[in-house]
Amino acid sequence: MARYTNPVCRLCRREGTKLFLKGERCFTDKCAIERRNYAPGQHGQGRRRKISEYAVQLREKQRLKRMYGLLEKQFKRYFTMAEKSRDVTGEALLTFLERRLDNMVYRLGLAGSRAQARQLIRHGHFAVNGGKVNIPSYLTSEGDEISVVEKSKGKQVFAEALGLAQRHETVSWLELNADALSGKVVRIPVREELPLAVNERLVVELYSK
Ligand code: SF4
Repeated sequence: MARYTNPVCRLCRREGTKLFLKGERCFTDKCAIERRNYAPGQHGQGRRRKISEYAVQLREKQRLKRMYGLLEKQFKRYFTMAEKSRDVTGEALLTFLERRLDNMVYRLGLAGSRAQARQLIRHGHFAVNGGKVNIPSYLTSEGDEISVVEKSKGKQVFAEALGLAQRHETVSWLELNADALSGKVVRIPVREELPLAVNERLVVELYSK
C-alpha cells in the first residue's frame, strides 16, 4: 500500500496544529509545532493572504486525512462509502476512519501513533476476535476483541506505548485490558464523543463541489 514517506512534522506545521504523528516526541519540547509553529518552506513565515472558502475547506480535508495517515485515494474511498451510507455524510466519514484497526490500536494505547500501529499490524502482531489480522484498514465492529498475538506479548514496544498512552485522552467506547494487551470495541462512537478538532462539514462541501 502506498504511504507518505516524507518528514511528518512538516504536515503538522502545514496544518498549524499538532497531529500527533510521532508518538513520544509529540509530547516533548522537541515537537516542531512547539519550536517552529509556522508553515514549512521558504514562504512559511511570510505575510498571510486572505484565505478563500476553497482553501479553508481544503485545509480541513488535509488535516483530517493527515491525522489518520491516509493518502488522497484512500481518503476519498472512505468519503464515497460515507456518501452511500444512510447516516449524515460527514459523521459517517469520521466513523469509517475511526473504525480502522490501526486507529483502534492507537486509541487503545497499544501503539504510540497510528503510523506505528499500522506497522505493527502489518508485521502480524495483532488479532481480532482471535484471528490474526495484518490489514491496517480492517474495519472493526462493535464487540470486536483486539489483542496482541501471544508470541508478541513480550515486546518492549507495547509497554512503551501503554506508558505513552497515559499522556493522551482515553476514549469511552474502548475497554483496555492492559495486562492482557487487549481491548474491546464497546461501541462505535458518535460524533460528539470523538476528540477531533475538525469541521467535517467543510470536507463534505469540498467534495460536493
Ligand atoms: Fe506533529 Fe508530533 Fe512532529 Fe509535533 S512531534 S510536529 S505533534 S508529528
